[in-house]
Amino acid sequence: MTCTGCALLCEDIDVRDGEVRHACRIGTAHILNRQQIDPMVDQEVVDIDDAIRHAAALLADAERPMFLGFGNSITETQAAGVRLAEKIGAGIDPCSVHTSLIDDIVHSRVRTCTLPEVRDQADVILFWGADPMNTHPRLMSGYAYYPRGKNRQHGWEEDRTAIAIDVRRSHTASICKSVHEIIPGRDVEFIDALMLALRNKVPKTVYDSKRVLKLAGTLKKAEFGVIFAGSGLVGSVPRDAIIRLMDELNEFSDFRILPLFSQYNLRSIATAAACEHSGGCTPTPASLHDADCLLCVGFDLASSLPQACDIDASIIVIDPSETLTAGCADVVIPCAAGGVDLAGTAVRMDGTKIDLPSITKTGQTGAGARISDLSIMNRLLEAV
Ligand code: SF4
Repeated sequence: MTCTGCALLCEDIDVRDGEVRHACRIGTAHILNRQQIDPMVDQEVVDIDDAIRHAAALLADAERPMFLGFGNSITETQAAGVRLAEKIGAGIDPCSVHTSLIDDIVHSRVRTCTLPEVRDQADVILFWGADPMNTHPRLMSGYAYYPRGKNRQHGWEEDRTAIAIDVRRSHTASICKSVHEIIPGRDVEFIDALMLALRNKVPKTVYDSKRVLKLAGTLKKAEFGVIFAGSGLVGSVPRDAIIRLMDELNEFSDFRILPLFSQYNLRSIATAAACEHSGGCTPTPASLHDADCLLCVGFDLASSLPQACDIDASIIVIDPSETLTAGCADVVIPCAAGGVDLAGTAVRMDGTKIDLPSITKTGQTGAGARISDLSIMNRLLEAV
């Protein structure tokens, strides 16, 4: 079975008699999570059909609807969401700082690779603004650092060099051979210094130029380098700075980049919704104030934007679990969780399509069963 606890989509999960095997702590908690919300209208518990009818009425009446999220939905639900958005003229925002990089990867503006290629080929691995030991716990053992691969038979001891670049010393940094601390707000300066160093020029910078030169030397010697780009990188630098750095690295060696995000199917919706904002797609209070109806699908708007509940727009939440946004939403519709009690497909962080069989056998019928967000989306499509 497949875990949808993060975008790594580990496919070796076994669930027997309520015991989860092979999943990390995040995946186990995700699979066992049963904190379901009740269907609600105006914060009163109602029948789920009433909640769907009410949501359809709000969407049909909206003049400037906006859909947020979908990164934690199966691809089939995303497709229905795109059709619904087209039907009522809504915009879709996956609400992730990673959408720009995904767009650059999909349109070949930067070189990328698959996770098995990282395992088989990578000798220099950069974790930039990323802490996979806490966000994607099985990345290091499955692909990025510890495993022996086809051309990396000696494993991490001899074959791989891990480097962390971040504003703080993360857990991941503790296993890296070198760590470079970024001064908050001065990320681009570090990239510029590194690019000069790659050309054997001594950078005049607030950073230790000797260490930057040494880092450039390591990167230039890479046979197959990979940057795992966390939100600390893509959320802090303009997308063109990443493209320039990748171009420069590829003048000297073979370098790839992979975005490291948590939402298990973000790559799919980001590709479908093709974000055009240069600085990423995180909604700002200003852009949200333009909307008169917000549909949050598997996305907790209030946790990333606390002032969301003060926005003068109706809010509809479709989510498998309790969220902060549900606490101030006009309509709440609980749904099944993709890969847990709903089968479908998803796209892994490296672009590989993965099947998601349903883990639980309770399915979508019977008392307490959860209706899928795909069925909810299809019912909204029929109703509006
Ligand atoms: S690393 Fe991600 S996909 Fe794999 S078991 Fe953990 S949460 Fe699930």
